This record gives sequence, C-alpha cells and structure tokens, in this order.
Amino acid sequence: MSSPSRSSGAAEYDVVVVGAGTAGCYAAATVAEAGYDVCILERKTESEAGHIACGDALKGADAFPEVIPKSRLEPAFTNTDVDHGRFEIPQEDTVLEIPVPGELAVVDRWEYGRQVIAGANDAGVDFHYDTVVQDVIQPNGQVTGVRAMRKGDPKEYAAEVVVDGAGALSILQDKVDFSESTFDTNVTYSQFCSAYREIVHVDEPVEWSDALVFKPTERAAGYLWYFPRTETEINAGLGFQMTEEPMKLVDDLKRDLRERPEFEGARVSDKLGAALPTRRPYDSAVHPGFVAVGDAAGHVNPTTGGGIAGAAYAGKYAGEQTIEAIESGDVSEAALWEYNERVMDHYGARYAALDVYNVLSTAVDVDDLMGLLAAMPGDKLAEALYSGSTDIGLKLKLEALLKSYGHWGTILNLYKTKRRADEVLAHYEQYPSDPRNFPAWQAERDHVMESVYETTGADPKY
Ligand SMILES: Cc1cc2nc3c(=O)[nH]c(=O)nc-3n(C[C@H](O)[C@H](O)[C@H](O)COP(=O)(O)OP(=O)(O)OC[C@H]3O[C@@H](n4cnc5c(N)ncnc54)[C@H](O)[C@@H]3O)c2cc1C
Repeated sequence: MSSPSRSSGAAEYDVVVVGAGTAGCYAAATVAEAGYDVCILERKTESEAGHIACGDALKGADAFPEVIPKSRLEPAFTNTDVDHGRFEIPQEDTVLEIPVPGELAVVDRWEYGRQVIAGANDAGVDFHYDTVVQDVIQPNGQVTGVRAMRKGDPKEYAAEVVVDGAGALSILQDKVDFSESTFDTNVTYSQFCSAYREIVHVDEPVEWSDALVFKPTERAAGYLWYFPRTETEINAGLGFQMTEEPMKLVDDLKRDLRERPEFEGARVSDKLGAALPTRRPYDSAVHPGFVAVGDAAGHVNPTTGGGIAGAAYAGKYAGEQTIEAIESGDVSEAALWEYNERVMDHYGARYAALDVYNVLSTAVDVDDLMGLLAAMPGDKLAEALYSGSTDIGLKLKLEALLKSYGHWGTILNLYKTKRRADEVLAHYEQYPSDPRNFPAWQAERDHVMESVYETTGADPKY
C-alpha cells in the first residue's frame, strides 16, 4: 500500500511508465513527443529488454500508430509472405486454409522489441533498466508515483500520472487502492491463458512458410501453433486456458514436434513462457493519476491471443489522454475517461463480443466444436474470428449444415451464441462517455452476460 507522503528523494517526472513492452513504449513515446518528461521503468537489463514470450505473429502493422515510425520496425519483419491461417484438425483428418484479413507478418520478436525501445528513446524517453516496481505511492486516493528497487537500491519516482504497462497480471494493480474509482478489479487467473514457445530451426524449408499453423492440443482445450519466422526458423508454441487442468506445456510441445516429420533433427535456440489475458478488456482502466495499457488492461483478442497491435494503440490513446489531463491540471478519473472510450470504440467492443465464443468453448465438447469448424466455410470463419460477428448466407448455411451432420446441436448452440455476441457488441457500442453513467451501463452489460451463460451453459467467467 501507499505511504502518506512522497519522499523528498523521489525522481520527478510528468509521467512514469512501468514496462518497456509495446504498450509502455508507445505510451511514453507519445508523451515525450509532446515535450513532457517521461521515463520508463523496466525490470529487465538493457540487453534483455524487449525479449518477450510471444508467437511473433503481427497483424495490422500497416496501421500502427506513427509515433514510432514503421520504418524502424520493418527490419524485424522476417516473414511478410504469410497471408492465411492453416488449421489442422487431426480428429477430423482435415486441414482448413483460412484467409487472414489485413497485413500480416511473422517477426523476430526480440528485434521488434529492441526497435520499439529505440523508437521511444528517439522520442526522448528516459529509460531506467534493472528497475523492479514493487509498490505505488497513493497518499489520498490519487496515485502519485511508484516505489522500485533499482539495481538492488530502493528508489521512488513521482509523477502526475503513472501508466501501468507491466503486462498480464501486473503487480501494480495488487497495490493500488481502487475503492474510489470504477477501475476494473474483476480479474482472476481463470481469465488468462498460460502459454509457452520455443524458437526451432530446421534444415529444410517447411512447406507452410506462408501460413500461420494452428492445431488443437490433445488435452485441456488448448492449441498449438507453428509460426514461420523464415522458411527454416519456426516459432512453435502452445497455450491453455487456466480454467483447465494444467498442461505440461514443454512435454506436450516436445511430443508434437517429435510427431512432425518436418522437425526431424531440429534445434531449439530460445525458450520462453508467460500468461496472456484471454478475456474482455477491462471495463475501465483509469483511476485518478493511473492508467493501465495493453496486457495490463486485457487488450488482447481473446480468440487469437493477438495483443501487440492493441497494446500499441492503447499506449497511444493513454499517452494522448494523459497529456490532455496534465494540461488541464486535472488527472481525475473523469479527466482520463476518454481513454476508455477510445479503446472500446477501436477494438474493445469487438474483443468483448469475441470473448462470448471463449465462454462457449468452456462449455462445449472440443471434438464436437472441431468437427463443426471443419464443416464451416473458411472465409466466414475468418470473418467471425476477427470481427466478432459474421453473416452466413442461406446457401452457405445449408451447405455447412449438410457437411456438419452429427454436430447440429452444436450449430444451434453456436447460432444462439452468435446472437448473444451481437447483443454484447451492440451494448459496448453504447459505452458511456461519462463515468457517472458507467454503473448503469455495467449493470445492463452484466444482464446481457447472464443470458450468455444461460445460452452457452457455461460457468460465469466474471
Ligand atoms: C506465449 C505468448 C504468445 C503470444 N503470441 C502473440 C502473437 O503471436 N501475436 C500477438 O500479437 N500477440 C501475442 N501474444 C500477446 C502479446 O505478446 C502481448 O499482448 C503484448 O506483448 C502486450 O504488450 P504489453 O506492452 O502490454 O506487455 P509486455 O510485452 O508483457 O511488456 C511488459 C513489460 O513490463 C515489464 N515489467 C513487468 N512487471 C514489471 C515491474 N514490476 N517493474 C518493471 N517492469 C516490469 C516486463 O519486463 C515487460 O518488459 C502472445 C503472448 C504470449 C504469452
């Protein structure tokens, strides 16, 4: 918890950002570009910063915020030939090739991370590495800074606004007292996915170097992925929802690699694991003097696990709102609120609707669902995966229905669930522009979610 007063030895900044990931760097670069003093506190060393557990698939890089020029990121794009998803469904002996809309690349994630940091550095951000943030300073409700251990020494940082870009399950949110605001504290482990990946090198080019390969895991309703950084360097990983029995991630990946002839004699160069949010975005991610961005606010597509683009935009929006609040001399919840609106408007509403399918997946039989997916038209599946909604024409519906004989119960379930997802989307489009209207909006959203649980038969997720 916070102490009553700020230590006189605190380093003072306009904005302190915690975490040198995508969200933190875009937020800090936005603030620095406007001429404000901003620092990023990162627990890793300078040489290790930017090394983040990831599948390395980057979607929508063509539309990234410009505060860090795209030309900086491009050298990290090692495979820009990927243009579709390849869904392997062994239970059905089927492979689905599904187009992915928008620009797609597989990246060298560490190089990408370094370039994002270099971009923020160019914008004028101060970097403090080896600095583990452990607590917040919150004398009277408002957050006014953080406490950290820097290279083993305790240190305090004071700021008008603290931006929490510390990633999934951020420690800062265990420390802030949110009782005076509507900041979303309805966050539990079961709304996250545990994931692990290895960088695997093979001698012969893989045949699917233009595809993102997905495959359901044998157990625990997870999925495996094989994303080609190049024709011979593959990001291979897997994850499972934390509502399930824990999987042995390393062993399960090893087993699948052994079974695939293209990985015979393969070498592994890097191993990393982490948690990622597979939930709706935080209902509100602002509190007086405090804004959460990226994974720290659940800004990930809950059906694909893609969070890089959302993190970049959350950073931009938080940076811009923070500047506005500081300029008006008011960093209250109301002054920061527009940040929530921009996130919901851009992708938050869509992700909340997609989360309804995650809820469904906890209640249906996975084999049944895979059988159904195998029978669905690929382009419609892609649309559903990214837009949160799809409209299947009558002819396609009938074709899919015939092919999916044996899964009709699931189809009906899916159809009803889609209607609920559309209701969620419509409700999020009414996200309030004033925090005073938030409790009523939230109560109505919870009402819509009750009908989601009723339709899907799933246990409540929130
Ligand atoms: C295994 C895996 C695979 C994924 N695959 C993809 C994919 O293919 N495509 C995609 O788009 N997304 C993917 N994601 C999600 C994506 O990686 C995240 O959404 C994205 O990195 C979020 O960025 P961020 O800046 O919010 O957080 P992060 O990138 O996690 O950055 C947080 C930073 O904060 C630092 N930090 C944490 N705590 C502290 C502290 N107390 N003090 C100081 N510093 C701290 C961390 O060291 C880190 O540098 C994947 C995630 C995982 C785990």
